[in-house]
Amino acid sequence: MTVTAYYHPGYAAPIGTHIMPITKFALIADALRDDPRVRLVEPAPVTEVDLLRVHTRAYVDAVRTGEPRQLAESQKFPWSPALYPSVCLTSGGCLAAALDAGVAAALVSGFHHAHADHGEGFCTFNGLVVTIDALCAAGAVEKGAVLDMDLHYGNGTAALAPSRPHLFTMSIYGNDYRQNQPFRDVEIVRHVDSVNNRSIALPNGCGRAQMLAALESGLTAILAWGRPDLILYQAGADPYLEDPYSPLALDHDDLLARDRRVFEFARQARIPIAWVLAGGYTKDTSKVVRVHLNTFVAAAAVFG
Ligand SMILES: [Zn+2]
Repeated sequence: MTVTAYYHPGYAAPIGTHIMPITKFALIADALRDDPRVRLVEPAPVTEVDLLRVHTRAYVDAVRTGEPRQLAESQKFPWSPALYPSVCLTSGGCLAAALDAGVAAALVSGFHHAHADHGEGFCTFNGLVVTIDALCAAGAVEKGAVLDMDLHYGNGTAALAPSRPHLFTMSIYGNDYRQNQPFRDVEIVRHVDSVNNRSIALPNGCGRAQMLAALESGLTAILAWGRPDLILYQAGADPYLEDPYSPLALDHDDLLARDRRVFEFARQARIPIAWVLAGGYTKDTSKVVRVHLNTFVAAAAVFG
């Protein structure tokens, strides 16, 4: 089978020189273009109605108009008129992948640090929650789960969970990234776990066996919550051992094993899955791209 990957050149708003390697999405799309196992499709943007299920009117207006500027740039990107259309497209990619019953990808981040009323940590709108809320509103799913395996704790999604009984979020993150995390002046606040908001911290030096054991606990917790109609998998590249923020000992093969296990779980449980890419700050961008391309290798191995 072919995997559909939702990509749009308009995903990338011009943000100048920035630590966020925004060019990686185009590099991944280029690499996938000639892969017979993958079909690249352009998504439609989400609507303002989709955004307003998750985000406040004041915040959505700020991102669209640039005023007040401090709120429009709360995610730490310089605002431009191109920002709003680009973030509507990235959430649109996530939604399109989720609507693609079975297995599909969006070449975007999930933007798990975005809160209802402000952005954080390079995340403007929380595409993961926008997607699950949109699908619930359309009656396409009753409940959806987020499996977040970015290095960083998914605090935005966690903050949005308590008011959403149809959402379960599991963040499996590196425990000790704070010392040298990229969001210099923002502390990613950890929330108290609750019935639909769970997290597992990976210790410094965490290798494959420990990571897979944590993943197993996370997958068990998803089923224990109640079988979701959809899993959104955030396949972060920043747990990679050469990432400047990663205290973990996970190489390309370990992250491939992670992705395989996630897809095997979804296949065995017959739960549709869509994945997004998320962080990755290794200086040699080709190593970040390789982590993300390996997720396609894993999907092809499991679903092919
Ligand atoms: Zn991250």
